[in-house]
Amino acid sequence: MLDWLVIGGGPQGVHLANHLRYNGVCSSRLVILDPHSTPLARWNHHTTNTGMTHMRSPLVHSLGIKPFELESYVDEPQFKNDKLNLAEGCDEHDFIPPYDRPSLRLFMHHAQFVVNKAGLMDSWYQGKAEVIESTNNGYQVKTEKGVVFEAKNVVLALGIGDQPNWPEWAKVLKQSSDSNGVHHIFDPDFRRDQIATSDNVTIVGGGISAVQLALTLLEINPNRQIIIVSHHRLRESDFDSDPGWLGPKYLEKFNAEQDYAQRRTMIQEARNVGSLASEVMYSLQIAMHNQKIDWKLVKIDNVVYNPTSRKVVIRAHCELDNLETWEADTMVLATGFERKRPGGSFIDNAIKNLNLPTAADGFPIVDCFLRWQKGLFVMGPLAELEIGPASRNISGARMAAKKIMQSPEAKQFFKIPDYFREHHIVQVTPNLSKSDLNSQS
Ligand SMILES: Cc1cc2nc3c(=O)[nH]c(=O)nc-3n(C[C@H](O)[C@H](O)[C@H](O)COP(=O)(O)OP(=O)(O)OC[C@H]3O[C@@H](n4cnc5c(N)ncnc54)[C@H](O)[C@@H]3O)c2cc1C
Repeated sequence: MLDWLVIGGGPQGVHLANHLRYNGVCSSRLVILDPHSTPLARWNHHTTNTGMTHMRSPLVHSLGIKPFELESYVDEPQFKNDKLNLAEGCDEHDFIPPYDRPSLRLFMHHAQFVVNKAGLMDSWYQGKAEVIESTNNGYQVKTEKGVVFEAKNVVLALGIGDQPNWPEWAKVLKQSSDSNGVHHIFDPDFRRDQIATSDNVTIVGGGISAVQLALTLLEINPNRQIIIVSHHRLRESDFDSDPGWLGPKYLEKFNAEQDYAQRRTMIQEARNVGSLASEVMYSLQIAMHNQKIDWKLVKIDNVVYNPTSRKVVIRAHCELDNLETWEADTMVLATGFERKRPGGSFIDNAIKNLNLPTAADGFPIVDCFLRWQKGLFVMGPLAELEIGPASRNISGARMAAKKIMQSPEAKQFFKIPDYFREHHIVQVTPNLSKSDLNSQS
């Protein structure tokens, strides 16, 4: 029997597995179950498609145990040597302001170091969890291939990365045979190089991924014409949500709220959906000024593929109801992820079989250790009614791991390092200093 089974090997699952190994759980008593052959595959796919060069989150939000691991990691020979071997002209900064946000390259290099150091590949099992049932002393989880794992504790770290959001008009097109030329940036089958030769690209979505993709496509071929379609005006914010959500400033009120519908409203209001980090906004404005990117404030009515011209024909209307029609070689949706609870029928059946409590929005009601019931933990989006708006992010993974490691189940396995006991959270203000960020991580 395993001590721990972590279902999902994205940033959330990997960070928790790192904590488990750090605290003495043997590789042979831990399994990380994920459909991909390597850790962080989904995250890698999505971030590569956007072409983003830097994280939106600050340097203290890494997958390491200690907050400033990334800062010291830049001096590690393995990172320095790999940087030296990069093609000439690739002189990206390891950190950019504000709040020393790390490059994606640095974040990923360090993440791989974490995986290697903790020996997580020894615990890796490629497969998809389909059924979970309780046993006398834990849980039994069956994969799509009928492989069965028995574990005292199970962590559901599923993520929303597998559920790209296709708007209604696009769903119709996707199901028809005429979906050529229309892609979703987060579709598992989409690779950015598939559209390498498209001169004329329309990107749908007004958030950071849409703009990062547009800027990347222009960098590869500056002669392209790019249209970004958004139903809202440009929004700027350096954070997905106010950093006050990482500490007591907002979380005290959030956790005191007993009505989960109210908590959901607080989460929705706190998220800076469809916003751009300042440096992305700056680059976009230059590209718009140079007439390389056209920002259309319209709502799409319908899209069809014209097999004769091999173009996508887009019909949309603007605020004044004027109709517009234009053609593109390719359309890419950057419309984020479906808001629904992740896990599909696996989680639907778990709720039924194990009689698990959910709020009206279908999301888990868990305790302060993120236990859905004894020995069954959640992280990421599944934990957001307890962790708040940052739950899906790397900061949310760090908050979740800390809570899970303080649970009675975790404590009975291993000693909790002193820095957890000594940890105290300070009042957070938007003008964070390094030491503030440190104490929240
Ligand atoms: C382009 C992009 C940029 C982002 N940038 C940042 C950033 O800078 N900072 C930040 O803090 N956050 C960022 N985020 C948000 C967040 O950190 C990522 O979405 C991150 O991938 C979430 O991690 P996760 O482990 O929850 O999900 P995922 O990366 O989706 O991993 C979940 C894994 O679970 C697997 N899984 C699902 N169901 C099952 C099952 N039944 N059995 C087994 N395995 C299963 C999935 O296949 C997947 O491999 C970004 C997100 C995106 C999309």
